[in-house]
Amino acid sequence: MGQSCAIITYMLRRTKIVATLGPASDDKETLRDMIKSGLDVARLNFSHGDAADHVRRADLLRSAAESCGREVGIMGDLQGPKIRIRRFKDHSVSLVDGESFFLDSSLGLMDGDKDGVGVALDWLHEDLSPGDILLLNDGMITLKVTNIKGKRIHTTIINGGILSDHKGINLKGGGLSAAALTEIDKQNIRLAAEMNVDFLAVSFVRNGEDIEEARSLLKEAGGNGLIVAKVERAEAVKNIDSIIEASDVIMVARGDLGVEIGYAELIGVQKKIISKTRKAQKIVITATQMMESMIQNPIPTRAEVSDVSNAVIDGTDAVMLSGETAVGAHPAGAISAMAEVCVGAEKFPLQTGQTSHRMLDRFGLVDEAIAMATMYTANHMSVKAIIALTESGSTTRWMSRIWSDIPIYAFTPYVSTSRRVAMYPGVYPVLFEINDENPLGLDQDIFDTLLANELLEEGDFALLTKGDLNGVSGTTNSMTVIKITSSA
Ligand code: PEP
Repeated sequence: MGQSCAIITYMLRRTKIVATLGPASDDKETLRDMIKSGLDVARLNFSHGDAADHVRRADLLRSAAESCGREVGIMGDLQGPKIRIRRFKDHSVSLVDGESFFLDSSLGLMDGDKDGVGVALDWLHEDLSPGDILLLNDGMITLKVTNIKGKRIHTTIINGGILSDHKGINLKGGGLSAAALTEIDKQNIRLAAEMNVDFLAVSFVRNGEDIEEARSLLKEAGGNGLIVAKVERAEAVKNIDSIIEASDVIMVARGDLGVEIGYAELIGVQKKIISKTRKAQKIVITATQMMESMIQNPIPTRAEVSDVSNAVIDGTDAVMLSGETAVGAHPAGAISAMAEVCVGAEKFPLQTGQTSHRMLDRFGLVDEAIAMATMYTANHMSVKAIIALTESGSTTRWMSRIWSDIPIYAFTPYVSTSRRVAMYPGVYPVLFEINDENPLGLDQDIFDTLLANELLEEGDFALLTKGDLNGVSGTTNSMTVIKITSSA
């Protein structure tokens, strides 16, 4: 036996939690608390910090996860072509409604004042016309373009306020031409490959081609992470079908998306994206401001509880924390509150435990067909668990597309697979050695691992799926109903 096992003990929760690392979570003890509270995938935001910061954070996270006996995934999040203003002489200015203000890409880097500021996109003036509405600082400040002379964009301040260095700019309704991958992103893709990230999030994607480009650059650099498309541009909503098709995971990135399409329709669009992504059998994350008040407060507001619950009830696979864990006062508290709300919401699923979903579909792949047969069986008889011996985690991803309250244990000899399945709802990774003495994982070794971790009891029924485990993914070709016995 001697299996190395990293099974979580609070598997009542199926929805996975992604949390952003940052200054508030920069020590091992805090990371351990976050992991114990339910962190499944840690997000490194490449918009802040340099390569050394990201490598240090990833190392710290992996060492904290190891000390907790858990596998936690890592997501590298590219900064993308976020358009930002440059700096002010005094770091900030106060903009007054009705007054004029200009943006000018030829202005000095630190020469901004109350009349105008530099902008870090050389051709912004070419993408705009009089009447366009610019939203700065996540929509807190609104400017209306009045006229454009050379590189200088003259505006009237519609909603003023304090504007400080480097704040982001969005065009209401979208349409800025910047390509999704900048030179900095291409460098960061190479870094992500070296760091062996499990997920690579691509920001401001416009269409499926942006995703294909990121995927091939990651592959070229030697990485094998799954590709996450951040839907945060108005164009991305229009091109959602091609983006879903090209991606492994979709993130509803509500911060920028809410600015571009306006917050009034944001939640309707979120619901559509969740439903479309699920129909395409892909994974979906709902992100941004889910527990925002917990940046300061020890408990969430009722509105935040409602937001997380509704996303779960609508079928999101994962929920994400940003500032709450990167710069907030309660990084572990935000995760435990989120975990608690997910568990509460999961008691009210839209689907029932009976599987009628995909009943009329034809399945193109053998592991997909076995996964579907397994979920149908699991939801129609009394079994305590599904045990999947898996190479790449692909069978468990198919399984996780069908609602069920039965835990799916992904037994795998590969660390990369156990970190990847950390994102799949209801799937719990178990690192498990397969060697010459138990070439197919030997059922008794699996039972002993489950019994030793008190995940199942002697006499329980479970479903076991496996294939030839020959280093090729997608080879699962059998399902058996098994009764757990002890070797002791
Ligand atoms: C968002 O805009 O919602 C988002 C997740 O992206 P970022 O945090 O990189 O702005």
